[in-house]
Parts: sequence; C-alpha cells; structure tokens
Amino acid sequence: MYRSRTDISGRSALVTGGARGIGREIVRALNEFGANVLIVDLLEDEGRSVVAELDRPDARVEFFRGDVRDKAQVTAAFDAAEAAFGSLQIVVTSAGVVEHLPSNDVVEDGWRYVMDTNVDGTFWAAQEAGRRLARGGSVITIGSMSGLIVNHPQPQASYNASKAAVHALTSSLAVEHAPAGIRFNSVAPGYIATDLTVHVRPDWIEKWKQLTPTGEMGTTQDVASLVAFLASDAASFMTGSVLTIDGGYTSW
Ligand code: NDP
Repeated sequence: MYRSRTDISGRSALVTGGARGIGREIVRALNEFGANVLIVDLLEDEGRSVVAELDRPDARVEFFRGDVRDKAQVTAAFDAAEAAFGSLQIVVTSAGVVEHLPSNDVVEDGWRYVMDTNVDGTFWAAQEAGRRLARGGSVITIGSMSGLIVNHPQPQASYNASKAAVHALTSSLAVEHAPAGIRFNSVAPGYIATDLTVHVRPDWIEKWKQLTPTGEMGTTQDVASLVAFLASDAASFMTGSVLTIDGGYTSW
C-alpha cells in the first residue's frame, strides 16, 4: 500500500530550470522513479546532455529551450510537454536567479531580472499548471529559506522578497485549486551546493556552514528526494505547505 502511494511511474512532469543544479537533480529523481520529464531551461547544451544521459523508452526525458520570464514561451513549453507525453501530472518550478547586492546598489535591470525570473516565471508556470492539470496533479515551487528569514552575511533584498512572493503565490493557488484536487506546495531550501553558490565568496560559505546547525550545506539530492515525495500520492493531504529543508538553519 505504501509502495503504491509513492509510485509515480508512468506520470509526466515539466521541470523549469531542469538543466542544472537543483532542477537537474529533480529531473534525475523523477526519471529514476519512472516519470517522463520535459526540461524547460535557457541552457541548451546542458539540457540536451541531461536528455542524452537519462532518456529511456519507459521514462522519457525531453528538452525545451524556453525563458520562464516570457509567458508565451511557458505556454509553448506546456504545449510541447502535452504533445510529447499526452498530459501532465507534475510541475516543478526550479528556474531561479539571485543577485547579491546591498539594496542601495540595486538598479532597475537587476531588480527586474530577479523578479521577472523568480516571481513572474514561477507564476506563469503555476498558472498553466492550474489550468491544465487534472485531479491528483501536484505542483512544487522552489522557494527558499531566504523567503522566510533574512539570512546573512550576503545582502540580497530582491531575492528574499522574490522568494517570499513564491511562497505566498503557492499557498494562494493551493487554496484556489484545492476543490479541483490539484496540490501546490513550496520547498524552501537552505544552503545547497550548486552552480548558484559556487561563485559565492569562500568566507561566506564558511559562515553559512557555521550558521547551519548540521554544520554542512545540503545537497541537490536532499531537495530532489523531497520533491519526488511531494509529487506522489503519499503527499495527497499536503497542499499550501512551505517546507524548509535547511539543516535546521531556520530553527534557531
Ligand atoms: P542554478 O543556477 O544551478 O540552476 C538554475 C537553472 O535555472 C539554470 O539552468 C538557469 O539557466 C535556469 N534559469 C534561470 N533563469 C531562467 C529563465 N528565465 N528561464 C529558464 N531557465 C532559467 O541554481 P540552483 O540549482 O542553485 O537553484 C535552483 C532553484 O533553487 C532556484 O529557484 C533557487 O533560487 C533555489 N534555491 C537555491 C538554493 C541554493 O543554495 N542553491 C537555496 C534556496 C533556493 P542559466 O544558467 O542560463 O540562468
């Protein structure tokens, strides 16, 4: 009974930002559990290499080059996923960007880049999911603990605001779509080692580790495991949740 509740084999997913980092690991997890996945990302070479690595007849992986900031491209990506797989049951929004700047130095382009990607990009995909998924569908947005607390030492006001917005829109859509049986949950990771963090100053990384009760950064596998659980029927009573996965950072 419990094995069948976690079974997502034969389902189909769309994952934004799936060519790299946390998104790529989510694609790997869903594929290992037997789901078809369409990756939506700007990074064509990386996306196609994920396809070459994972695509197999019983769990297909396809790539769509698309910019989540552009509503029309998000719609086209959903059309491509439905053309490839028939219908979608799982949508994950992982495409996201960060800008580490003191708020006095933030200029309009930088502000728009973060908001357009993290907030608009998440909303366009979540909106399409709400329109297209049937009862039993699951939408997982990748928020951040930075949308819940102000982490330091790096200043990133625009990112923090954008991730708080991701959590709020996820909860809002959860309530709206609950009668239709479509679930919306947000995962709020702490410090996870990816390409997004690889360029961060080493002294900040050390500080992050000191501030995390477990003393380590998390892995992309930690996040992907939680997403795979939320995608499955084992999480069927969960909607509107914001789940921290942060080594205890937000607990002390
Ligand atoms: P990465 O930069 O490694 O991966 C993000 C992917 O999203 C990249 O392939 C990127 O492509 C793509 N992307 C960015 N903008 C767009 C766009 N407009 N349209 C389509 N694809 C786009 O980041 P992470 O894996 O570290 O982060 C994934 C998510 O997790 C983000 O939402 C991030 O905010 C969140 N997160 C990460 C944490 C961490 O510690 N790493 C902690 C908490 C949350 P490109 O390189 O071309 O921009």
